[in-house]
Amino acid sequence: MNPLRVTVIGAGVSGLAAAHRLLELSKEKDIHLELNILDAGSKPGGTLSTVEKNGFVMEEGPDCFITEKPAGLELCKKLGLDDQLIKTNQTLKQSFILKNNRLHPIPEGFYLLAPSRVWPLMTTSLLSPLGKLRAAFEPFIRRRRDPQDESVGAFVRRRMGKEVLDGLAQPLIGGVFNADPDDLSLSACMPRFKEMEMKYGSLLKAMAARKLKSQAQVSGARYSLFVSFKKGMQTLGEKLASQIPMESMWLQSHVDSLNPTDKGTWEVSANGRTQETDAVILAIQPVKIHSLIGHLDPEWSKLLLGIPAHDSATLNLGFRRVDVNHPLDGFGFVVPSKEKKLVVGCTFASQKFEGRAPEGNVLLRAFLGQEGVDLFKAQGESSLVEKVLEELKPILNLRDRPLVHHLASYASSMSYFRPGHLSQALRLEQKASEIKGLYLAGNGLRGVGIPDCIAAGQNAAEKIFQNLLKKEIAQ
Ligand SMILES: Cc1cc2nc3c(=O)[nH]c(=O)nc-3n(C[C@H](O)[C@H](O)[C@H](O)COP(=O)(O)OP(=O)(O)OC[C@H]3O[C@@H](n4cnc5c(N)ncnc54)[C@H](O)[C@@H]3O)c2cc1C
Repeated sequence: MNPLRVTVIGAGVSGLAAAHRLLELSKEKDIHLELNILDAGSKPGGTLSTVEKNGFVMEEGPDCFITEKPAGLELCKKLGLDDQLIKTNQTLKQSFILKNNRLHPIPEGFYLLAPSRVWPLMTTSLLSPLGKLRAAFEPFIRRRRDPQDESVGAFVRRRMGKEVLDGLAQPLIGGVFNADPDDLSLSACMPRFKEMEMKYGSLLKAMAARKLKSQAQVSGARYSLFVSFKKGMQTLGEKLASQIPMESMWLQSHVDSLNPTDKGTWEVSANGRTQETDAVILAIQPVKIHSLIGHLDPEWSKLLLGIPAHDSATLNLGFRRVDVNHPLDGFGFVVPSKEKKLVVGCTFASQKFEGRAPEGNVLLRAFLGQEGVDLFKAQGESSLVEKVLEELKPILNLRDRPLVHHLASYASSMSYFRPGHLSQALRLEQKASEIKGLYLAGNGLRGVGIPDCIAAGQNAAEKIFQNLLKKEIAQ
């Protein structure tokens, strides 16, 4: 039997998880696999990237992943990375929201869009008396039965009122999806909240029930909701890459064309070299897939461009502890867009996870959206750093400049899901399944979180073997 030739485009966590699963399956099924994984960058892992400077352990991209979705933890266990996992600081559980250059605690029990407790919401300094009254009225708002998707913004405005959206939900969601809630699909980004409305008719009632249930379920050893690695998130990318034979990994190989052949195979070109392959896994964002296969037909083009992605950047800042005159008594803060800042959020990185800053120092990490990246492109790194420091100075009472800083920026790396996304993603998957040897993974279809990307990569690998099996049965 000829070897099965598979090419994975993109060696971020999606592509690496796909490659890892392909290797597992080829071993399990005793099928000779000829694997190539191509990435434009100089190291595997994509946005999973950690840099160490002067003893500060700085995350360029994600700083943790959620344990509620099983794919992340399961893969770590399989890779023997359990003992490298660290949980968030269990003594500091609060985070803040910026309002008029002051940090206000997020009301206890408020989770992304809704509160599980009424009293903290009624006593918060983030809402006016009228805003609180409107939020308290939530259980009396009739459920929406229209099956059409709705934006996250419209949902929160409808159920909790405009003040909760602008002052609480928008900055919290913006910090996760790097997008405007009015341009985000409720069904794709926050399906649980839609289910809560359908089941309980009220988010307040649903969140209270959920809280009771989770209290009843707490028993034995549990992972914290978010985890990272002792040496940073790059650990996961490095470990996955170490499982892939060296001859299969092609770095600094930007794929610039991908074309089907008359034989039902694909031709992949990078660095002036063309390879023929039986199957391709596209583990990159839809906007980047568009530049490779958008020309194949107008529907591909429309569907792929319908899942946009914003640029983002992170600026790590290492300070002497005495130069930050703030208790830093939480994991960080998020910034509502009405505050008109470049900084979308700021993590107190060395408070959130142990081992991120040397003794006597602290590490802060500012998260920047499209506006920050635009300023960086127009005026350069030093202008951006100065502007961020100017914004942070009055908020955190900075007394001096940082000892070190490190900027990382990513072009179109955060896909986001517009209203109607699920049917669009389904159609994309259907279309791919009709084309021999074409498989989609990456953060543009089912979720942007690391466990979602791992699951998407593994799923693409499994589909290849399922199709191979179907072909064998048919022969
Ligand atoms: C700043 C930031 C913070 C985040 N924080 C979190 C977090 O805390 N927790 C969480 O769960 N998620 C977080 N996310 C989201 C999550 O990190 C990403 O969705 C996920 O890592 C994407 O993985 P990926 O492999 O799909 O894509 P990527 O990591 O973007 O990897 C894609 C790879 O493809 C390569 N590539 C692109 N085009 C080509 C081409 N034509 N040819 C060859 N190679 C190509 C790129 O070089 C890249 O290495 C964050 C994302 C960012 C940007």
